[in-house]
Amino acid sequence: MNLHEFQGKALFADYGLPVSKGKVIYEAEDALKACRDIGGTKWVVKAQVHAGGRGKSGGVKLVETPDEAIKFAKKWLGKRLVTYQTDSSGQLVNSILVEECTDIEKELYLSAVIDRDSQRVVFIGSSEGGVNIEEVAKNTPEKIIYEPIDPLCGAQGFQARKIAKVLELDVAQTKQFTPMLKNLTKLFLEKDLSLLEINPLVITSGGNLHCLDAKINIDANAIFR
Ligand code: ADP
Ligand code: MG
Repeated sequence: MNLHEFQGKALFADYGLPVSKGKVIYEAEDALKACRDIGGTKWVVKAQVHAGGRGKSGGVKLVETPDEAIKFAKKWLGKRLVTYQTDSSGQLVNSILVEECTDIEKELYLSAVIDRDSQRVVFIGSSEGGVNIEEVAKNTPEKIIYEPIDPLCGAQGFQARKIAKVLELDVAQTKQFTPMLKNLTKLFLEKDLSLLEINPLVITSGGNLHCLDAKINIDANAIFR
């Protein structure tokens, strides 16, 4: 079962991961209250569908007034969004995530999947985020790290440092990354995930790590739990 970005981010927040302040809306007019509640002068509005590639297809937009947010919501609610990850009929947009705008210094990639061969959760990281990871894997495989997690020991500090090196994090960011990796592993196991992807994981202009997107898939066999 796929979760929407806003649901995935709620789980991230439960596990202490840094996510943006945001509100999900189902009616265009509610964008005004959402912007006001979040505060600030810039927001990002994001159509909620179970597919990536929204940014390139007009499904993610930076807005500078609540009116623009309402306009975006009016444009997309009840419509179908087509991205390179959907089929040609696209996916119906039922909700919009309004969130605070983050000033981005750099976009990174982090995900976790179950590797059937080793029967372990494996983290995949790259300094090349925000883009199609399949392209990075094809063209510059040396920029991707695959780090399997021992199911008995969980994610270890040395593994966080190994991934952080490939992500080109500095010392302070590596310190932030270590508990993140441990918490993501906990989330993955406790919630029976089959996929977790943060693309992009960003370094903000303040130098901090922040989860800007969230894709989560829960193993259908575990839904009853
Ligand atoms: P998708 O993967 O479907 O294209 P993302 O959530 O990754 O959607 O958003 C696309 C891009 O939009 C990101 O790579 C990032 O550059 C930008 N973006 C998304 N959310 C925010 C935000 N809250 N603040 C600033 N920029 C954002
Ligand atoms: Mg994304």
